[in-house]
Amino acid sequence: MIFINFAQNSVFMSDFRNGRRTESDSEFESRIRPQELEQFSGQDKTVENLKVFIKAALMRGDSLDHVLLHGPPGLGKTTLANIIANEMGAQMKITSGPVLDKPGDLAGLLTNLSEGDVLFIDEIHRLSPIVEEYLYSAMEDYKIDIVLDKGPSARSIQIELAPFTLIGATTRSGLLTSPLRARFGITCHLEYYDAPVLNRIIKRSATILGISIDDDAATELALRSRGTPRIANALLRRVRDFAMVKGEGHIDLDITRMALGALNIDSRGLDDMDNKILSTIIAKFKGGPVGLNTIATAVSEEAGTLEEVYEPFLIKEGFLKRTPRGREVTELAYKHLGMMPKTKEGELF
Ligand code: ADP
Repeated sequence: MIFINFAQNSVFMSDFRNGRRTESDSEFESRIRPQELEQFSGQDKTVENLKVFIKAALMRGDSLDHVLLHGPPGLGKTTLANIIANEMGAQMKITSGPVLDKPGDLAGLLTNLSEGDVLFIDEIHRLSPIVEEYLYSAMEDYKIDIVLDKGPSARSIQIELAPFTLIGATTRSGLLTSPLRARFGITCHLEYYDAPVLNRIIKRSATILGISIDDDAATELALRSRGTPRIANALLRRVRDFAMVKGEGHIDLDITRMALGALNIDSRGLDDMDNKILSTIIAKFKGGPVGLNTIATAVSEEAGTLEEVYEPFLIKEGFLKRTPRGREVTELAYKHLGMMPKTKEGELF
């Protein structure tokens, strides 16, 4: 029996992707969020490099160089920022680009940092240009200029800041200005996770939450989580609900498949927007090649979001190709949607 309808399910998926969280979500996240690099699965290269940079900074007694974390939502940028602060034995203050709309907001935060503290700015690509400019000298020389008074008596004084580490996170690294990007000494790109790593993450979360889950059920969840730990953890919670109500609380493969079917998560973990992008390219543009802006208009989504949030996963999974003439779906996309690929002349393959 399906008791979550399609519309509700769209909200369910887009909430993870947009990073919107309810009260219980944040409680849940604080329980399962890894606190140390050792508990952080996957992203091996990034983690190995960070270990070296953190160790070297600690050996020198310096604050860590500024870090830019970029990659699609839900892959662990906030988690890594937290871990970096923990491993450096530092306090972390959290803010986000759109919240800091006046230089004064930023100045207030910066002047309250102690030596070695971490300032985490989420969605750093959404900083206003004037606030961003203010950041430059703070990042480079640990100094900011503050303007006192207005009009003819206005004067500016320079304030020294304690050496701090700025960690910026963005899903849209293409929107960062080059002066800002150049001020980060360490840049890490987070990749989608493969199924064995997600399986480990799901089992770790299950253990913390006291949920019993079979290995094959965890693998099924992993395969259908769009390569994203946040989605994997959220699906684990929903499947647990099904296991409690429809079974005896234990998550096995059957209950997992039943729950994922009810939640409209398809066999490859693609969500409504992923499928809409593919089916639109096929139905309206003969499978492509078609330009990014044209697809964006057709699916009512921003071109930048398509490019940096949806496309990377579709390309990684082999559903979509970027060609010099535009985006093109692959044969796999036709198969996935149960459609027949056509040759350019309109004949079937
Ligand atoms: P982002 O900031 O990139 O949107 P988050 O850091 O908020 O993503 O991570 C989303 C969720 O996924 C968190 O609950 C976190 O605990 C979990 N998570 C992310 N990456 C990992 C990982 N490598 N290992 C274990 N859990 C992870």
